[in-house]
Amino acid sequence: MILRQPEKTIATVFLLPDCDLSCRFCASDLGFDCMEETQALRFIEELASAGYKSLVLGGGEPLLWPGDLFRVAARASQLGMIVQLNTNGVAWPDGLEKQNGIHRVILPLDGATPASHDWLRAPRGGHRALVEERLNRLTASGKEVTVGTVVCKTNQEELSALYKELKTRCAKGLRLHAWHLYRFRPVGRGGARPNRGPEFGLGMEEFRNMCAPIQSLEHPFQIFRRPDMTRSREVDFFWFQKGVLKTGFNSAIASESESGGGLSNPELPELLIP
Ligand code: SF4
Repeated sequence: MILRQPEKTIATVFLLPDCDLSCRFCASDLGFDCMEETQALRFIEELASAGYKSLVLGGGEPLLWPGDLFRVAARASQLGMIVQLNTNGVAWPDGLEKQNGIHRVILPLDGATPASHDWLRAPRGGHRALVEERLNRLTASGKEVTVGTVVCKTNQEELSALYKELKTRCAKGLRLHAWHLYRFRPVGRGGARPNRGPEFGLGMEEFRNMCAPIQSLEHPFQIFRRPDMTRSREVDFFWFQKGVLKTGFNSAIASESESGGGLSNPELPELLIP
């Protein structure tokens, strides 16, 4: 039985650690289990019974998951949850944008130009063009979208250009639910690499001062400022590790303090599923 805190209404499930990109700021970890499809189906029943209103299918990259992602999404939708797919958009199966079981697709845009975005996301290039193509498809199909941007030293000057781009897309029919501005955190397989913190990191205040003017503008979508992507008032994170369900955030250093010290391995509670 999963005990849910009343304010936590969104469950993010990390289905697998594998990914087809290697973003410089990646906050995800390797070393957790790839969920079995039966395990995932059983788990979402638990999440629905516990009262979670929304399910985010994440990874790694959930479109690489060997299970039937559309079946899991359809089941969660049938159970009354809003189903969101958090993808980098690379392994896009035909017709994804028209899948009824997926209510919203979360895609990344991290730079206002291909050069800046691709430097952060996919050094071989081409990723921004691909995300733009996915956004065009989602606009044509009328599927709701959320865009996420990891804000760091290298793209901090590009937020207003990104904002204008999103506004223009909305004027052309994109159903943009929200734009999430995540402050870079030095955690995970990319973010915790040596020197990544000083190279990319922004202080809390610096980040707030950068985002607030954009948030104060008039816009047809919500803009959320997320100073710590490893914690959220509304979101619980779940994954399996050696067959045991874990919750928290799947980075061994998610408890890293703002002062930069005290990296530790958090004791994560183990939850029981009947
Ligand atoms: S940030 Fe996302 S897309 Fe990039 S490497 Fe990590 S899991 Fe993959």
